Amino acid sequence: MTNVLRAKAAVDATSSISRPPSSALPAVLNLPLGVETFLDWPDRTVAVIADRIPQQTIAAVERFGLVARVLSPDAAPESAHEAGPCTFVLITTEALRHDPGRDLIRAFRSGSPYAPVILLARAAADRELTLVEAMRVGATDVIDPTNLTGLSEVMAYQLTIAGKQRERVLAIGAHPDDIEIGSAGALLNHRRRGDRISLLTLSRGSIGGRSLVRSQESLAAAADIGAQLLMADLLDTRIEEGIETIRLIESVVAALDPTIVYVHSRHDNHQDHRAVHVATLSATRGVPQIYAYQSPSATNEFTPTRFVPIDDVVAEKVQLLGLFGSQSERSYLEPDLIVAGARYWARHLAPRCRYAEPFEVLRSAADATSRTDPNTRVTATGPMASVTRLTAGAEGGRP
Ligand SMILES: [Zn+2]
Repeated sequence: MTNVLRAKAAVDATSSISRPPSSALPAVLNLPLGVETFLDWPDRTVAVIADRIPQQTIAAVERFGLVARVLSPDAAPESAHEAGPCTFVLITTEALRHDPGRDLIRAFRSGSPYAPVILLARAAADRELTLVEAMRVGATDVIDPTNLTGLSEVMAYQLTIAGKQRERVLAIGAHPDDIEIGSAGALLNHRRRGDRISLLTLSRGSIGGRSLVRSQESLAAAADIGAQLLMADLLDTRIEEGIETIRLIESVVAALDPTIVYVHSRHDNHQDHRAVHVATLSATRGVPQIYAYQSPSATNEFTPTRFVPIDDVVAEKVQLLGLFGSQSERSYLEPDLIVAGARYWARHLAPRCRYAEPFEVLRSAADATSRTDPNTRVTATGPMASVTRLTAGAEGGRP
């Protein structure tokens, strides 16, 4: 099922609040009254690239709460894009033997640069050749396919490391489409890294269109990002910056414990945007990183000092903003303007990138931004006596 279809199915089911997969849930998700879960976090998946895979191997993967997606090594690289980001890539030797299999692995690595690649290979005469090929596609571990304990150990180890590195992102906006216009590129980057993303939209946008339609558009966009979507129903154009809004955001922050928050800038002509900015600052006192994104209504005082390269996802951002069909007459949603804006802000990073999103830094803990590079995680020590650890760098840099 495509993301949009999943989103539509979720719209049909929004009369009752659906539950995210247990692996993605905090211990208790205690959302405040008036905040509805429109879409839960997507399943975390393992791409299995193999002609045949024993059921016991699939069962070993699924014991971690992960969903296995099995693809033939002959599948087109576009299949990786359709499958979306994954948590692991599990491959067999036949996936390495021919170009299509290797291209497919690379396509998954491109969409999920942080996903460890695990090779299932028996000890054999051609193993060294296989290992060279495995290193070329960024494999981090090699395990005998009969060694399910070894596979479980590697997965547990990698998940532990990933859990420590994973950011919990909360993006807050006043109306449907605000978050996406300002920060979809950064959010898509977070998704590629395997971070957990939640969107909180505080109104249904009834002044700017029909609220049901706008909610459905938000839902489709959240599905494309791979985010949880929470929606409140504050009065469009009359959102207050006072205690009611603060308490609502505080409760969501308490439930999600975010490490990064994105929100409106105070340099904005729209009163709702300014109110959400002020309320969020009060409600996120313990969050180490807070960044303000640019809205089309931002004033000339908007002074970003953080520029996030979005070269790898700018096309996806344009496509995603196209989901807000009810707002298509708004000039700020025209694709060439979106691209031109991103091109303009990239001048601060030239020549390192061509497209960027700008953010004002409201809070940034120096050590909160350091993450282990994907190329170093493979050399970390661990209880891996039964598996081969490769030290070759994974392909694809950090987004
Ligand atoms: Zn807005």
